[in-house]
Amino acid sequence: MSTVSTEIAVRKVNHWIAGNVVPSTSGRYGVVWNPATGEPQAHVDFASAAEVDGAVQVAAQAFVPWRESALSRRAEILFKLRELVDANRRQLATLISLEHGKTIADAMGEVARGLENIEFACGIPHLLKGGFSEQASRGIDVYQIRQPLGVVAGITPFNFPAMVPMWMFANAIACGNTFILKPSEKDPSASMLIAELCAKAGLPEGVFNVLQGDRVAVDRLIDHPEVKAISFVGSTPVAKAVYETGTRNGKRVQALGGAKNHMLVLPDADIGMAADAAVSAAYGSAGERCMAISVVVAVGDVASPLIDAIKERMARIRVGSGQEDGVEMGPLITREHRDKVASYLEHAESEGASLAVDGRGEPCTKTKGFFLGTSLIDNVKPGMRCYEDEIFGPVLSVVRVPTYEAALKLINGNPYGNGTAIFTRDGGVARQFQFDVEVGMVGINVPVPVPVSYYSFGGWKASLFGDLHMYGPEGVQFFTRAKVVTSRWPDPSTSKVDLGFPQVR
Ligand code: NAD
Repeated sequence: MSTVSTEIAVRKVNHWIAGNVVPSTSGRYGVVWNPATGEPQAHVDFASAAEVDGAVQVAAQAFVPWRESALSRRAEILFKLRELVDANRRQLATLISLEHGKTIADAMGEVARGLENIEFACGIPHLLKGGFSEQASRGIDVYQIRQPLGVVAGITPFNFPAMVPMWMFANAIACGNTFILKPSEKDPSASMLIAELCAKAGLPEGVFNVLQGDRVAVDRLIDHPEVKAISFVGSTPVAKAVYETGTRNGKRVQALGGAKNHMLVLPDADIGMAADAAVSAAYGSAGERCMAISVVVAVGDVASPLIDAIKERMARIRVGSGQEDGVEMGPLITREHRDKVASYLEHAESEGASLAVDGRGEPCTKTKGFFLGTSLIDNVKPGMRCYEDEIFGPVLSVVRVPTYEAALKLINGNPYGNGTAIFTRDGGVARQFQFDVEVGMVGINVPVPVPVSYYSFGGWKASLFGDLHMYGPEGVQFFTRAKVVTSRWPDPSTSKVDLGFPQVR
């Protein structure tokens, strides 16, 4: 007797290895949620250590011919990829929005900022030019070349499922490496579309691979002797662990971690402009940005009018599904994360802060999606949980300080150093702040100072482990190693044995 299956087929997100979609054999998988509905929408494969080994082998085989390919050929493929990503912006943004929850407009911004990195990598023939010193000694020339490392891996966070992979792989492959991407298991589909576009652009099989998975895949990538470098972006504890283990294993590692970004507002600032910036930078992408402003540091009597202006703007923000027109802020990534973010609101008042706006009420609680409204905590002080932790949600804290010096001391005393901003009309103070502040990326009347792709991105202190920042010129440096050649083409008749130490003559 035949039976009719009542099981609904679940969409599967697999690996991408050697130019093909490859289902996992591990038997392990994770659930990809739709944060706007609170329903599961797909299963994502979790690679086993043996699957990591297989992918690394594929990438190692692809390395030799890819490394030998002409720079102009690599640039040609990157140009094609640039065109394909450009043509598929909307499709990528929709995938990002469905799995991450951010609005389509915000996801389009993410794709645009990722695309910049492919555009930058199109200039690889120029970027890999070395230095040449003719006649460093009589008849001797010295020159430097940069060569790829081999198989390199990128491990990326949930909050930018397309942009952060593009930060890493564009330069990595342009430099002649082969690449394994381990995307976040929470929103893995954008990486598969990127892989498809790489194949359409003519990238040889095995040069760009995607291994879906969790900690098991990460641990094996960090241990694998054939993986020469790890580019990691995620939370600080994981970044620190990846850096420590990876470097102990002899790998080159850059590991970007979490953040607590302060926006300093001086009494002379334009209140409306500062409030617009604080609201945009705190609640854009529901605060799930490593460059989100999470603390406003209000100097002197600027606090009260600034808070009023912020509250007025907050009241107008439309929260809802990221795919709906007119919505400005979507849900958080998972139920657990939403509940963790909400717990900071629960504890704020018992710690002595004031809950100026509480986002836990309706309409957010009326749906099954992982929503939390915009929230504002005033009178926050160091030592409180809401100040010490990276909240990574739509919660803005206000710390009131009497002077610029007190504000600077607060910011420099924070263990994180990713981004910061100053709002003022005084150029002298802004310049002094840029000089004094111990943070890697600084905005002057710019709240989210993510550098353009021809500079490099990176924080200081607990926001980055490693020496080199990501993408741009430092990205090219990270994915290559230097070789210096000293060369002589002498007349054989002048050659002789000389046991002395070589010196310039
Ligand atoms: P996460 O640390 O949980 O995960 C990042 C990656 O590491 C994912 O691919 C995940 O699968 C993997 N991972 C998670 N736990 C692991 C473990 N114990 N061992 C090995 N691998 C592990 O981070 P997230 O929640 O996906 O992303 C948010 C965090 O990333 C925030 O802290 C945010 O500030 C940070 N972030 C930083 C930057 C930056 O440029 N500094 C950019 C984006 C996000």
